[in-house]
Amino acid sequence: MKSVTETPMITYLWTPPSVPSVPVQGLTARFPVNRLFFVGRNYHAHAVEMGKPVDKSVERPFYFTKAPQTLTPSGTTVAYPPETSNYQFEMELVLAIGLGGFRISQADAHQHIYGYACGLDMTRRDLQLQARDKGRPWDLGKDVQDSAVCSEIVHRPGVVIEQADLSLSVNGQVKQHSNVDKLIWNIREIIADLSLFYHLQPGDLIYTGTPEGVGPVVEGDVIDGQIEGVGAIQLKVGAAA
Ligand code: MN
Repeated sequence: MKSVTETPMITYLWTPPSVPSVPVQGLTARFPVNRLFFVGRNYHAHAVEMGKPVDKSVERPFYFTKAPQTLTPSGTTVAYPPETSNYQFEMELVLAIGLGGFRISQADAHQHIYGYACGLDMTRRDLQLQARDKGRPWDLGKDVQDSAVCSEIVHRPGVVIEQADLSLSVNGQVKQHSNVDKLIWNIREIIADLSLFYHLQPGDLIYTGTPEGVGPVVEGDVIDGQIEGVGAIQLKVGAAA
């Protein structure tokens, strides 16, 4: 049977924003970003410095999200954000999903990995902690304009990073230094657990959590981060908008 598909011309009231995307090392084509997931408290020493130690034997990981519009390329100068006096850096390994899935087993998790990037989960810490302590959502502390900083992605299909040195400095002074082998919930466990709640889709980015040493920045600061085998990331803090 012959079928005819007609695609009607869609018109918009104004030009919609472009699809958020991240460059991929060595490729012209960019990685189109779908959603931004963040794992909370995924390194013991950071959980302790936040005053909320984690007991993996009785707890499960938890997540928050940021709008994809908060994505910001490495090398950017961002304005110091409004309504905070404690804007903080969090250096994180970012996992890029290339194949969708739901209720993915830990054994199959590697099949869904496109690659990795360096990420900064910039945070209005004062607002996040106020919200946390009042039992309110974290959005005002976390879902901040230009706060999901991401480097170029390195294509490592099917590779599970189990150990990699990770560090961050501000103005050349080391503030965070740890290793991915200290993740409380590792890459396979994160993919398996998050996919119980969401149908993972290609283009999802998962920020896997930050180690200890988080701290504030001020106007003029230059943040540099590195992850062994993944790459580097930089962010400059500009004047308040
Ligand atoms: Mn974080």
